[in-house]
Amino acid sequence: MAHVSAVVVGAGVVGAAVARSLARAGQEVLAVERLRQPGQGTTSRNSQVIHAGLYYPEGSLKARFCAASAARLYKFAESRHIPHWNCQKLVVAAEGQEERLRSVAEHAQSIGCLQKEKMRLLSREDLKILEPDLVASAALLSPGTGVICAHSVVSALVAEAEDAGASFSFGSDAESVRWDGSVFTLTFSDGFQVTCDKLVNAGGLHAGQLAQTFVPPGLVPEFRFCKGNYFRPSVPVPFKRLIYPLPPPSGAGLGTHLTLDVEGGGAKFGPDTEWLPADYQPVKDMDGSGVYRVDASRAASFEDSIQSWWPSLPSGSLEPDYSGLRVKVPSGDFEITNHGMEGYWAQYGIESPGLTSSLMIAEQVLRVLGVPIPAEDF
Ligand SMILES: Cc1cc2nc3c(=O)[nH]c(=O)nc-3n(C[C@H](O)[C@H](O)[C@H](O)COP(=O)(O)OP(=O)(O)OC[C@H]3O[C@@H](n4cnc5c(N)ncnc54)[C@H](O)[C@@H]3O)c2cc1C
Repeated sequence: MAHVSAVVVGAGVVGAAVARSLARAGQEVLAVERLRQPGQGTTSRNSQVIHAGLYYPEGSLKARFCAASAARLYKFAESRHIPHWNCQKLVVAAEGQEERLRSVAEHAQSIGCLQKEKMRLLSREDLKILEPDLVASAALLSPGTGVICAHSVVSALVAEAEDAGASFSFGSDAESVRWDGSVFTLTFSDGFQVTCDKLVNAGGLHAGQLAQTFVPPGLVPEFRFCKGNYFRPSVPVPFKRLIYPLPPPSGAGLGTHLTLDVEGGGAKFGPDTEWLPADYQPVKDMDGSGVYRVDASRAASFEDSIQSWWPSLPSGSLEPDYSGLRVKVPSGDFEITNHGMEGYWAQYGIESPGLTSSLMIAEQVLRVLGVPIPAEDF
């Protein structure tokens, strides 16, 4: 049976970042991915926003990683010529929401969001100059927010991991794991087996399913899945920045917002929050199950929400686009844990801002595995 030092399961943005960092640290790495290409899971079904880290609870991994990782991601993108755009974002408050907006600004300052020294609250009059078509009582300008091509990020991470000696095996579906106290044995759907000393579970939506094959019962958190749908306007949008409402108190998402395409010109609205049934289990096949289909009847609630800050959005001008699934754990935070099994590290609940945080998540995995962190070259 083949043996490697480290196996990374999943080649989304997190698995690719971990494989790259491990390989650059001199580890022998095999990354296995059940799909035919990297980054075809949630990594290709999100808003592609580089989040500045405004909202996350103090002390959470999301707060610790987001702003620091965003700063790195900009540098990484610049040095690798990855399409990105530091377009900024506005969080808008309607009449009566000004106090909540001020709290968001204070919180963002206190947790050290990216470019916090340039962040500022804008009045209705300021907004008339900055974004004349926007109707809001006040807004918070986040100068550190931007957009990035997630596909190019993953491609660059995979290429650099391979340059550093990592091997990627696509179309390889890890079905189960066995642990004898020191060595992990992975069995794939075609019966192939491989052993390793270090196992990183970066399986995204499916991380829990693999963990349940070998982690003692009761230790893997309960997962819930929350779909986020996107709609695309058939009319041009007049905005130069991302526009977000205040996040809903439920905490399930950041509110249905406007995201601009990284190439410029295009725009989309979303994601909303559509909870899937409590017993929903994510399917392996990204296309076949129909779970990602966007229900056109949701356009009405999108329109209501968008017209509250862009009243001139013509009714009937939204078309269903794509959707993604958020993986939720009870803590609401990223969970990087090994359940006391030495050599194993899993990333659970890597929802937003997981794309932004991927470089810091990778560094954290190396830290907990006891692997020296290689210097970055950007
Ligand atoms: C609607 C939505 C909007 C979002 N917007 C943003 C945003 O704007 N900015 C941001 O920073 N973050 C955003 N996120 C979060 C971000 O997309 C994710 O955190 C990130 O893509 C997670 O990457 P991943 O590598 O963990 O998962 P994935 O990209 O899903 O990768 C996991 C991979 O593991 C593979 N895999 C799983 N199990 C196995 C197995 N047993 N064997 C082999 N392969 C396996 C899967 O096929 C998959 O390719 C958003 C998420 C959603 C759902």
